[in-house]
Amino acid sequence: MRYFFLSFLLFIFSNSLHAQKNIASSPDKNIKLEVSVLNGNAFYQVFYKENKFLDQSPLGLLSSVGDFTKGLKLVGNTKNTIQESYKLERSKVSSVNYKANETKCVFTNAANDTLHIIFRITNTDITFSYLIPKSKKNTGNCIIEKEITGFKLPLKSTAFITPQAPPLSGWEKTKPSYEEEYTRETPVATKSQYGLGYTFPALFHVEDKGWLLISETGISGNYPGTRLSDASSDGIYTVAFPQEGENNHNGSVTASGILPMQTSWKTITLGTTLKPIVESTASTDVVKPLVKTSKIFNPGRASWSWIVWQDESCNYKDQKTFIDLASDMKCEYILIDALWDVNIGKEKMAELVDYAKTKNVSVLLWYNSNGNWNTAPQTPKNKMNTQETRRAEMQWLQQIGVKGLKIDFFGGDKQETMKLYHDILTDAAEFGLNINFHGTTLPRGWERMYPNYMTSEAVLASENLVFQQAFCDRYPSTATIYPFTRNAVASMDFGPVFLNKRLNREPNKGNFRKTTDAFEMATAVVFFSAVQHWGLTPENLTEKPSYLFEYLKNVPTVWDETLFIDGYPGKYCVIARRKNTKWYVAAINGENKTKNITVNLPMLKGKDISIISDGEGQESKFSTRKLENSSYNLELSANGGTVLFMP
Ligand code: CA
Repeated sequence: MRYFFLSFLLFIFSNSLHAQKNIASSPDKNIKLEVSVLNGNAFYQVFYKENKFLDQSPLGLLSSVGDFTKGLKLVGNTKNTIQESYKLERSKVSSVNYKANETKCVFTNAANDTLHIIFRITNTDITFSYLIPKSKKNTGNCIIEKEITGFKLPLKSTAFITPQAPPLSGWEKTKPSYEEEYTRETPVATKSQYGLGYTFPALFHVEDKGWLLISETGISGNYPGTRLSDASSDGIYTVAFPQEGENNHNGSVTASGILPMQTSWKTITLGTTLKPIVESTASTDVVKPLVKTSKIFNPGRASWSWIVWQDESCNYKDQKTFIDLASDMKCEYILIDALWDVNIGKEKMAELVDYAKTKNVSVLLWYNSNGNWNTAPQTPKNKMNTQETRRAEMQWLQQIGVKGLKIDFFGGDKQETMKLYHDILTDAAEFGLNINFHGTTLPRGWERMYPNYMTSEAVLASENLVFQQAFCDRYPSTATIYPFTRNAVASMDFGPVFLNKRLNREPNKGNFRKTTDAFEMATAVVFFSAVQHWGLTPENLTEKPSYLFEYLKNVPTVWDETLFIDGYPGKYCVIARRKNTKWYVAAINGENKTKNITVNLPMLKGKDISIISDGEGQESKFSTRKLENSSYNLELSANGGTVLFMP
């Protein structure tokens, strides 16, 4: 009431002073948003419990309808409360009660064109989106040339963010593909690795006051995927559109649409601790299901030969071995990776799918996405980029009983490429195929928008354990960053859980794994992906204790509830997840030193639980006990872990 009165007064009296304000807050009043216009420029500020989390940050965009970067007046504002309950079937939570205060600010520019900005504030997030309405003057289509949307972090904040890679760089010109390393607590004005800014999501430690995660959602081909520029010297990161060279220079670097035209939603998740970030549903809250289907798309676990046995294993015999492994491990799926079309062929693939059926295992197949936007030689290629060919291929896949696709090597974030993701998802839904994207953009709300969307890479994933020892060395720490960044906003196909000492088919070759076995078990829970592709190989089953496999045979891949327990990016992470009545609590230690951490686990109090924890060296140990009270002391080895679960 006080804020309302204040904003009313400011609104009335400030028109003549060239300063106009609109103030809104979260239902619990902890988050406060202040939108203002100063000398024709629109800004917003964000406060959490009276602490400033975002300083005066610019708003506006340049469009063919009008220039909304300057000469603005705040001419109106409507407030609304939004309450919606919705279900998710392939996510970190299954049921969401969304409660938000909405404030719609109406601006006009010097030419009297109108721009709306819709802000929604929950107790953990601010999401906002621009809308250019139809008017008497403007009725047709619209180009958005750029956004000047910015995020001004307090200067002493530090960042965990991943740089944008140059277009057509990297292996066979497959970048940018969201496969860069996260920075670790870099000062906000640090120049990015390639001078091209950063990709979403971006995590900030806001001085000693709390945490803030910035990301984007709600793109189905209606908008390019955007990112952040390098910060200016005063700490402002600005939204950037794709670079001209992305997608091999095909497509536009602007956004195009029909009026009324709405942009993507930018999401800001914040709080004193990392809890809101791990538990946020901002990326699904503001989107809607786009595709109706009666088909069922099952989440699940998969065996995957390529990750350790590499390209040579994509042959009939080895894949049969991995179908047997999937069956032994009670996996729903086997993923058969690149080059199957050459090394197995379509006819033998149909036989292999039939064999898998007899073992109760469904087949997922790899495809190259291109097109001309990379030079990756892996086949099958040129099957997914045009509609007729894609639908013919999908019809064949459906006929032989394939259940899903992993499609790799996309070419950037232009609107044209975002439309390709949408087209693949909608066609695949019709043919009963679930979808996993690799070499790819960040998924933006797709868990709710598409019934067959399972997961995406968009992360420096487990293949890098196989490619470089240095990544193995850093992996324990890297793994503790993902739950607070990439995996906080969407399903993440990291491809976890390795038990080989060296990551190669030959026991005396390959990079050395630095994590303990218990750490590896914990990643099955710490990392969320609706389909998990295990890094297991057949010999693991005879070499390692059976309780590890009993656990993996039962661990879910989608969850009813997800809770942050404790952690610090780069150092350690403890997460609890529930499926039906069973809780799993998983901890990983990102540092090369032992740790004792006492955590509060009320969900396990009085329950009989099983524990996989660190034993001698990399080995694990297994115990069962009844947890008498909710306090539990985790004893983690260097690069170690623990999983507590209800059998
Ligand atoms: Ca990749």
